[in-house]
Amino acid sequence: MVDVLITVVELQSMEDQIRFDIFDWLKTRSVVNGGVFTRDELSYGYSFKGKTIHLMGASGIWIPKGFECPISITTTTKGPYNDGFREDGILQYSYRGKDPQHRENRGLRLACNRHIPLIYFISIKPSYYNAVWPIFILRDNPETLSVDAAIDISLDNPLGEYGNNEDIFSESALSVRRYITRQTKQRLHQSAFREHVLSAYDRQCTICRLQHPELLDAAHIIPDTELQGDPIVNNGLSLCKIHHSAYDQNILGISPDYTVHIRKDLLDEIDGPMLKHGFQELDLTNITLPSRKKDRPDRDRLADRFDRFRTA
Ligand SMILES: [Zn+2]
Repeated sequence: MVDVLITVVELQSMEDQIRFDIFDWLKTRSVVNGGVFTRDELSYGYSFKGKTIHLMGASGIWIPKGFECPISITTTTKGPYNDGFREDGILQYSYRGKDPQHRENRGLRLACNRHIPLIYFISIKPSYYNAVWPIFILRDNPETLSVDAAIDISLDNPLGEYGNNEDIFSESALSVRRYITRQTKQRLHQSAFREHVLSAYDRQCTICRLQHPELLDAAHIIPDTELQGDPIVNNGLSLCKIHHSAYDQNILGISPDYTVHIRKDLLDEIDGPMLKHGFQELDLTNITLPSRKKDRPDRDRLADRFDRFRTA
C-alpha cells in the first residue's frame, strides 16, 4: 500500500514538473510565433528527458500516455475570432461524448479536484491555434455534460486556495474572472489578427521583404481605436518592427496605389546604412501585395491614412 502511494505521489510530481516545463516552452515559443501554434508543432510535442509528450491529441481532451489528468483541452471554432468563453468570463467545455465515466471526462474531474492547471487551445483557422494557460477546471456539471473552467492570472495564486465552489463563484471572484477573460480575449484577437495578416503577406514585411516572423507585426492601417479600425486582413499590413513604428509615426506613408513614401526631411538627411537602405532607397517603391486579391489592403483605408501622413 505504501509503495503504491509513493508511486502515485511520484507520478503526480513528475506530471507537475512536465506541465510547468511545457508552460515555459509555450511562453518561449510565443515570442517567436506571436502566440499562434501550428498543429504540427503541438502534435510533434515537447521532449522531456528523452520522452516525447504530445501537447494535443486526436480528441479535444488530451491525456498523454501515462498521465492521469489532461494536458490540454481544445476548441475548434468556426469563425476566426470566436472562442468558447461565456459573457461571465467562464469557459464552458463539453465532455467527450455522453458518458461522464469516459476516461477523458474522468480526467477533467480529477483535474478539477486536484486544481491541476491545463492548457486551452483555440483554433483560429485550420491547423493553427492560440494557447491559453493556465486554466483551471472549476466545476463539474454532469447534468449538462460539461465543465466550467477559467483562466488564472498566475500560478502563484491558484484557485486551489478557494475552499469550496461558492467562493469560486462568488461575485467578487467572478468579477476578477471577467476582467482576466476580457484581457485574454483581447490578446487572443490580436494574435489571431497577426496570424491572418502575416500569412496573407507570406510572412514578410510588405515594405522591405524581411522574412523573420519574430521581427514582424501586423499593423493596422486605421488604428483599432477607431470605427474603421476593424481587425480584418484588409485593414492590416505585415510590417517589420522598424517599418511598423515608422508607419505609426508618419515617418513613412503608403498611398492608395500601393507606393511607399518616405517623409521629405528624411530623404535629405545623411546618416548610416539603416537610413540609406531601410528608408531613402525605398521611397517610391511598391509594396509587396498579398497573393490573394481579397487580402489586399483596402484602398479607401489607405487613402484615409495617407492623408494623415501628408498632413502630419
Ligand atoms: Zn520592413
